[in-house]
Amino acid sequence: MTFGAKTFSAGALRGAGGVVDHRLSRRHLINEYRRGRLRQDQVCDAHPELIRAARNLGAPATAACPICQLQELRLITYVFGPRLPSHGRCVSTAEELAKLNARPDELTAYVVEACVSCRWHHLLRVLPVGSSRPPRARASS
Ligand SMILES: [Zn+2]
Repeated sequence: MTFGAKTFSAGALRGAGGVVDHRLSRRHLINEYRRGRLRQDQVCDAHPELIRAARNLGAPATAACPICQLQELRLITYVFGPRLPSHGRCVSTAEELAKLNARPDELTAYVVEACVSCRWHHLLRVLPVGSSRPPRARASS
């Protein structure tokens, strides 16, 4: 997986598609940073597009940023799948997500946290969407 690529894609979402569980990977990175084994610029390297989306469409997270400790953490939901842009559809409202959920296609929603202050970012959750699933996936919380 490459970070900082010019085109924004699922690959820009740290933790997506990796073999390591994204929760473990997140905790590992935070621990490594706190132990001084990773520099801040190694963990705070969100794609500009991700930060823009976080600023404009992100939902405020309840927790503070694990890196800079500021209350600048935002949650952004990207949905990938057939008939959606290759860089995903950034979903900001529950209505929008419900609409995608009503599609017959099998879609995948990636909930990402991104700090608009220090540019820390990580994948938080992966949810199946669409294919007439019960509407249990939500854009926020
Ligand atoms: Zn931060």
